[in-house]
Amino acid sequence: MMIPPDAVPEIVTLAIPVDERVWVPQAPDVWFRPLMLNTTNGQWCNLLRVRKSGVLSRHRHPAPVHGYVIKGSWRYLEHSWIATAGSYVFEPPGEVHTLVVDEGVEEMITFFNISGAMIYLDAADRVVAWEDVHTKIEMCRRHYVACGLGEDFIRKFIR
Ligand code: FE
Repeated sequence: MMIPPDAVPEIVTLAIPVDERVWVPQAPDVWFRPLMLNTTNGQWCNLLRVRKSGVLSRHRHPAPVHGYVIKGSWRYLEHSWIATAGSYVFEPPGEVHTLVVDEGVEEMITFFNISGAMIYLDAADRVVAWEDVHTKIEMCRRHYVACGLGEDFIRKFIR
């Protein structure tokens, strides 16, 4: 079958980049690496890289998240399991959890396919911040301009 002419182009890239600048700083010792940013259905795929231990964030998902741990390990305070390298994790809509990287884990890298939003909560379940595909794109754009990769670099990953 012919590839339909209105199909959007594929994306093929080294997920763990050679150029360190591709990692977008999210917080001290926390970065994400955009892979695919879908502005039509509000979904994005990225790697999360953490090089510190402790609590990262408490958040809620209004839509499904799929994760695959590439390196290191992490867990959620609300659950008893530990996600280790090779683990697949499904976070259903409505999940509220607090991401923790334990002492002794030098680096964790996890692939996440996220739909909708990340809704960040405080201990009293008040919304303190949120992110969606558009705020992620804006973060990437700002970082890539600042680091010299340029304003258009992020376009490679937007569909
Ligand atoms: Fe989550």
